[in-house]
Amino acid sequence: MRLLERSVTTLKGVGEKTEEQLNHLNIYTIRDLLYYFPFRYNIHKIKRLHELIHDETVTILGKVLFEPSVTYHGRGRSRLVIMIEVESVTVKAVLFNRAFLKRQLSVGDDILLTGKWDAHRLQITASYFKKYEQDYKTSIQAIYSLSGNLKMSRLRGFIRQALSSYSKDLPEYLPENYLVTYKLPTIHEAIWTIHFPKSQVALKHARRRFIYEELLLFQLKMLHLQKEKKEATVGNAKHFDPRKLQDFIQALPFSLTNAQRRVVNEILSDLKSPYQMNRLLQGDVGSGKTVVAAINLYAAILAGEQTALMVPTEILAEQHANSLQDLFQNQIRIALLTGSVKGKRREKILQDIKDQKIDLVVGTHALIQDDVHFHHLGFIVIDEQHRFGVEQRRMLRDKGLTPDVLFMTATPIPRTLAITAFGDMDVSMIDELPAGRKEIETYWVTEQMFPRILRFIEKRVEAGEQAYVISPLIEESDALDIQNAVDLYENLVKVLPNEIKVGLMHGRLSNDEKEEVMKQFAQNDIQVLVSTTVVEVGVNIPNATVMVIYDAERFGLSQLHQLRGRIGRGNKQSYCILIANPEGEVGRERMKIMTETTDGFKLAEQDLKLRGPGDFFGKKQSGLPEFQIADLIRDYRALEVARKDAEEIVDNDLLKKDPAYEQLSKLFYSTYSGDEILS
Ligand code: ADP
Ligand code: MG
Repeated sequence: MRLLERSVTTLKGVGEKTEEQLNHLNIYTIRDLLYYFPFRYNIHKIKRLHELIHDETVTILGKVLFEPSVTYHGRGRSRLVIMIEVESVTVKAVLFNRAFLKRQLSVGDDILLTGKWDAHRLQITASYFKKYEQDYKTSIQAIYSLSGNLKMSRLRGFIRQALSSYSKDLPEYLPENYLVTYKLPTIHEAIWTIHFPKSQVALKHARRRFIYEELLLFQLKMLHLQKEKKEATVGNAKHFDPRKLQDFIQALPFSLTNAQRRVVNEILSDLKSPYQMNRLLQGDVGSGKTVVAAINLYAAILAGEQTALMVPTEILAEQHANSLQDLFQNQIRIALLTGSVKGKRREKILQDIKDQKIDLVVGTHALIQDDVHFHHLGFIVIDEQHRFGVEQRRMLRDKGLTPDVLFMTATPIPRTLAITAFGDMDVSMIDELPAGRKEIETYWVTEQMFPRILRFIEKRVEAGEQAYVISPLIEESDALDIQNAVDLYENLVKVLPNEIKVGLMHGRLSNDEKEEVMKQFAQNDIQVLVSTTVVEVGVNIPNATVMVIYDAERFGLSQLHQLRGRIGRGNKQSYCILIANPEGEVGRERMKIMTETTDGFKLAEQDLKLRGPGDFFGKKQSGLPEFQIADLIRDYRALEVARKDAEEIVDNDLLKKDPAYEQLSKLFYSTYSGDEILS
């Protein structure tokens, strides 16, 4: 173990300059060097002579014919010439400044050479060779990322040297039973293979091992971190009268689903505990997160705290403020604070918040402005949390004194990804819809079907129902996005019968205009609402039963699912019609999945596979940790397994108690330093 912590300068050929270059790559010790993994591999198929193309990089197999010759020409420069026989043809191989390799060669050896092919001179200019072994069909060469003047071949040389001298000192970090269960190669085998793979199969297994090792360590850190945070924060336990809360729940117009009940209890126990709550509540669209938030807001208010609910849009803020007012009757004092609340009215609200005359503030980003001061903000709920940046979430939190925070999201994030991205959060899940909901029927059609879609809309409207028509999404251009909506609106006004009123909604409308449109739609004064994706989040109009989405192939599955969640909110049958003309197999597959499932988590997983994590976290501030060899998306299954194993290890304290985990424990504690992982 000690030996591995030696400086790289103990290697032959590593002087001050080279040390500096290695340090640049974060390589200080032998161990660092051994764990400096290639970022990719060049895989060369061994080619037959007639397949070789002049001036291209090729890999050939030949037998050494004569003793190789070396010529020196000044300043340590040399030229190694090896005559080899390839398919009975004599070929000349030239290696510059590799004189030292001569000793490794004997006449009759079969060797692989990769280099530039000169078809006229039958000559290959290579930088290295490899002894041929029976099962070689390819030559695989590790490629490392470099900086400064350090040459790839030198780095490779140092790694080979380190492997020869020290790889036997690497202890087996993974307990035997993991190696057996997952059929992973030993550390010895894997560390050689990851740098100098003999076959693609061996490489695959070596990578699998290190990916698992990295993810296991990562998950162990996460779990430790979470435990430490819980143990460290104190001082905001909330005491409330449980009977009053019971009465409130009893008085709700419906009974809670089992999932809601479970999640309410999880959150309440956080509120009651001295730990600072940091919890993510996931629940599919329509699963009833609002009432869960309401119950907990009420509990915090009963405990004498001020509370805040932050949402991403004004429409949603108003909707929440109204429905909460209905739920709470006059038992609590609610204020609405959005960008359109201005002047005297705003001043009054700010003063009331300061004077603790307000129990709950519902609002948008307006909540985090500098002049908003709470008297005693103890509990915060952030709805559609992925719409807010890390900084915005922090700013609201800073308005209280260690407030409990509940983040809600209707974009289901696969659990492990959530735990990874929000490593220090607890995660609650509502995985059940209220009874009596009819599953939305989803159809995928082409634009030629438009006349039939029109007739369908007319029929639903005659039956007293309403429809959304979502215009194509033009991500690159706001202006085009809106133009599309306007065109579609004008077209529908023309082709639909006069008695059907069509409305238009897009991001350029003023807040008053938006509000007016939504009000008309909610009151069924408008029957067909043409909109850009601004209706995506949260809006609740149970009488709307039809959603038509144009150019559906441009949306992510999770986003389509969100949009579709605007319908199917009452007890009537709802219909989602995707107009799409996807190119390619993947696109068609995506549309098909939409028609087959309404399970947001399944769709989220598909999205994750097809589009990467950007869709979940926003492309800019992903908040995802960087991994050395693992990849959250590609290695998603391994991540799940590692999580499960890490939980078992932590729950049973195996790192401390089980001798089989001794080496893993040493590795863990040597790299664990508290909260460097996430901000
Ligand atoms: P979301 O999780 O998407 O925010 P909401 O909180 O808006 O969902 O709830 C969707 C609808 O379901 C609302 O009209 C709400 O009143 C209703 N609802 C919530 N919980 C239940 C329940 N347990 N039984 C019946 N209806 C419910
Ligand atoms: Mg909601």
